[in-house]
Amino acid sequence: MRVTLLSCPIDILSREEAVGRIRQMLQTKGVSHHLLALNSLKVVRALKDQAFADYVRQAELVYADSAGICWALRFLYGIRQKRIPGVELVQEALGLAHEEKKGVYLLGASPQVIEATARYVSRQYPGLHLIGYHHGYLSDTEGKEVLRQLKELSPDFLAVAMGASLQERWIERIRKEVPIPVCMGVGGSFDILSGRLPRTPAWMGRMGLEWLFRLARQPQRIRIMSGLPYFIFLVVRAKVAGPKTTEEQLARQKGATPPAPDRLEKG
Ligand code: UDP
Repeated sequence: MRVTLLSCPIDILSREEAVGRIRQMLQTKGVSHHLLALNSLKVVRALKDQAFADYVRQAELVYADSAGICWALRFLYGIRQKRIPGVELVQEALGLAHEEKKGVYLLGASPQVIEATARYVSRQYPGLHLIGYHHGYLSDTEGKEVLRQLKELSPDFLAVAMGASLQERWIERIRKEVPIPVCMGVGGSFDILSGRLPRTPAWMGRMGLEWLFRLARQPQRIRIMSGLPYFIFLVVRAKVAGPKTTEEQLARQKGATPPAPDRLEKG
């Protein structure tokens, strides 16, 4: 089921279902799929930046990457959606690519981090078909070279770690030219996989405090994080204005699939 949260689509699904969708997508040929990790800041960005809003709407799978999204879904529609952290989903996708012997290309992060990520991935998934990688600080010439490489190598799985909204822009640009079955924007995941930045402690993740952990590690994020209170304000305002239930919302969204009863719990 797909619902709309402050004009962004969001797919309501479990982590296992997301992995199943990736598995199916990996089997396709000649068609590309964009998997987008939605968080509260991206919802705010989509309201201000039309191009970014279009990338979100065009993505084939938009999953709840943050506690803020899960809270908003519950608060507005009574939907209990479990968070699917992008850094974990990318590892699931790498595992699938490994299992299915699919070609993988990694793009993004600093030159040191991408080298360390490539080493991590080769260690973690021995025999993985890592057909190429490149850092994410691309000059015009390097950007063209990456596109040329992708056309030539034709990977099945592309993970792009450049942060929002640069990575979404690159994915849209790439998939217009190369039909890569699975393209995933993975934000700061390579910094974590490479060991440059620590993972959020599980207890902080469970309490929805990942943003606080990231802020403590990278105080320079304070400026972009100032969007979080605005997101809360927008959600509360939407609640006051209605519609109040998923059913009402779905009734307004012509052609939407009815919610599966087992996924909807009133909050
Ligand atoms: N980055 C990049 N190219 C750029 C700017 C950033 O590859 O031009 C990388 C940066 O090195 C980092 C990632 O993009 O690895 C951004 O991570 P961030 O945590 O900011 O992304 P978020 O998860 O917040 O979207």
